[in-house]
Amino acid sequence: MIDKAGTWWTGSSFEDLAEYIRIHTSLGYPAGDIRRCVCGDCGGHVFGLDIAQAEGCAQRICVGCLNEYLIADSEDYWDQVNIETGACPCGYETFEIGVGYSLRESGEIQWVTVAGRCVVCGILGVYTDWKIDYEPSRHLLDRF
Ligand SMILES: [Zn+2]
Ligand SMILES: [Zn+2]
Repeated sequence: MIDKAGTWWTGSSFEDLAEYIRIHTSLGYPAGDIRRCVCGDCGGHVFGLDIAQAEGCAQRICVGCLNEYLIADSEDYWDQVNIETGACPCGYETFEIGVGYSLRESGEIQWVTVAGRCVVCGILGVYTDWKIDYEPSRHLLDRF
């Protein structure tokens, strides 16, 4: 269960992070499809996160094998954006990551939300999110 008692909400599992994404997106574009990031090379679940917060782009870096992966359509914009390292309020930079996809009635993607659960302290946060305004877009559901 999400612990909402402190300044920052915390969670102890990926399910808590998924719930956090649901709550966070519920007032805007509800994320109906939430995926857990898994390293394609080693199967790891813990990542560093590079983000372009203003533009909306994200790359995860596996802490186990250093494999880098650009989330959704970030590849198309990565060389044009300002990239920062995602850091938890506690100062650590390692997360379990979930990607929330908000879908249009047509089934196309409307919004992408990238959130992390700090593996050190459990704080939950949305690190970047962005709009998808082209079709077809459903192939992005496999890029998380
Ligand atoms: Zn890996
Ligand atoms: Zn933390």
